[in-house]
Amino acid sequence: MALNKIILYYGFAPVADPKAVMLWQKTLCAALNLKGRILISEHGINGTLGGDMEDLKKYCRATKDYPGFGKIDFKWSDGTGSDFPRLSVKVRKELVAFTTPKEIQVEKAGIVNGGKHLKPVEVNRLVEEKGDDVVFFDGRNAFEAKIGKIKNAVVPNVQTTHDFIAELESGKYDHLKDKPIVTYCTGGIRCEILSAVMINRGFKEVYQIEGGIVRYGERFRDKGLWEGSLYVFDGRMNVNFSDEAKTIGDCEKCEAKTSSFRNCSNLGCRDLILLCDSCNENPENLQCQPEHTRGKRLQEVG
Ligand SMILES: [Zn+2]
Ligand SMILES: [Zn+2]
Repeated sequence: MALNKIILYYGFAPVADPKAVMLWQKTLCAALNLKGRILISEHGINGTLGGDMEDLKKYCRATKDYPGFGKIDFKWSDGTGSDFPRLSVKVRKELVAFTTPKEIQVEKAGIVNGGKHLKPVEVNRLVEEKGDDVVFFDGRNAFEAKIGKIKNAVVPNVQTTHDFIAELESGKYDHLKDKPIVTYCTGGIRCEILSAVMINRGFKEVYQIEGGIVRYGERFRDKGLWEGSLYVFDGRMNVNFSDEAKTIGDCEKCEAKTSSFRNCSNLGCRDLILLCDSCNENPENLQCQPEHTRGKRLQEVG
């Protein structure tokens, strides 16, 4: 009997010929019947795939053979077999669209001059040592934090990752430049870039949660610094770390507590609307707004 799983992963390492790697990955995934999204750039690889566990294991082994990809941390979770509609493998200028490809330097070990990686237990230790001085800085799009975040974290006003640089350069966060900052995101990739661009802009002590909230939640469930549900970029839409997960999101129509994002029913839009189950039953509520201009997002992998 097939066991369906999902993997989420990234690896920063120099890729001399992204197109060749793209073709290799496409062939590899097709042969193993895997679906999902993979991005490849000169800086490495970022992907999320769903499929049979044995096939995914073969994929991981093959991918780790590429120079610099041996260190990749594949994060596993349960899938349904229909979490991704198709396979997409693309070459991009950047793995995460911060629009700073020239600013980021990569070597085999990873990003040059990035944030210091902290394992989940080290994150809690830092807070025990330095207390309220530690600032958690959400590296995701602001909408993701509506249903779950690190308690008391700073949530920058960003619709997409594109907006981070302007946000950081706005001066809004200058008073945090001497404080210990811990960046976090879903699986850790966005913080790799975010931490580096923060350091380049004068933030002196920048850490990032190794493996992101996925790893933090596996370790501490709902008994640590995390609160709520984790938004994910696949058919599951969000995951909880235990039955004790708090529901912190507010329905956009009635303000009842909910963690459920729904896609706008306009096929050209598909933007996300946070709706409780009863408001979701009224089709009128599934139109984000008359103009459908809240912005294009997605394309992120985690
Ligand atoms: Zn509602
Ligand atoms: Zn819409």
